[in-house]
Amino acid sequence: MQVMKFKPVDKSGVSLVMAALMLVWPASAQELSEVEDGTEPDEPTETEEFFDVDEAASESMGDMGLVLDEGTWRMPRFCDSLPEACYNDSWDHFVVNPYDKNLMNMTDSVNIDMTGYCHPIAGYVTSKFGFRRYRFHYGTDVKLNVGDSIRASFDGVVRISKNGYGYGNYILIRHNNGLETIYGHCSKLLVAVDSTVHAGDVIALGGNTGRSTGPHLHFEVRYVGNAIDPQSIIDFETGQPKTEQLEITATTFKYKKEIASMAFYTVRKGDTLSGIAKKRHTTVSKLCKLNGIKPTTILKIGRRLRCS
Ligand SMILES: [Zn+2]
Repeated sequence: MQVMKFKPVDKSGVSLVMAALMLVWPASAQELSEVEDGTEPDEPTETEEFFDVDEAASESMGDMGLVLDEGTWRMPRFCDSLPEACYNDSWDHFVVNPYDKNLMNMTDSVNIDMTGYCHPIAGYVTSKFGFRRYRFHYGTDVKLNVGDSIRASFDGVVRISKNGYGYGNYILIRHNNGLETIYGHCSKLLVAVDSTVHAGDVIALGGNTGRSTGPHLHFEVRYVGNAIDPQSIIDFETGQPKTEQLEITATTFKYKKEIASMAFYTVRKGDTLSGIAKKRHTTVSKLCKLNGIKPTTILKIGRRLRCS
């Protein structure tokens, strides 16, 4: 049993910093982190999958004053029978990430039992975890046909089974090994919240609901709300986990540091690429590379460009 603790380093110091930041930022940390978390009702689009500058801010904000060591906060583990403990920690039927814990700087490590894994669906990967232009994709997409069976990847209990704007019809399962997995864009959901499921059970049918441009499964793996690149731990060609014991450390979430270091610019009337490059102390070619555009691309007003 792994035990982790999150506590403020120095509450007074942190609150001063927080107060100072509040003056600068348009929204509260809570609002921002809700965006990052893709909080329902409407946020998780492949939104939840995506993030923007405010979410990047919340990522770094969320980490402030938090350290990990032995103690007060623990990831609940539970067995097949859905004991009371399941409901005691962030057992939420609506919010994808109710934890508010950023593990980017976790100092501990956690071992996750990957045995018993069942691949949710066989198919080729159409989109990987990672940056999509100025947004972030928090899962791995697998091609499927509408109506294909989607299976639970481990034993666990269904925490969310609903329609979300971006995910479409989706299911989130909390597993006995401490991970949570998400299955998005389904045509039909076959399990209700609080249902116990076993690895391999058919939990939904594949589809094209939500923000999706063709039938696929959007598959996410999370630990305490923090997304893990599914392809870093599962071989999607064989459908097998890459290791029996997965060690989760701060390195698992190093992509969050990249996110936190990113900056954006919203295009205004009269802007040109060279003008934006000058304002942001960068070059047109860097802007083009970061945003997948050409120097001749016409910029729509309101478009967000990644600048670093
Ligand atoms: Zn996706």
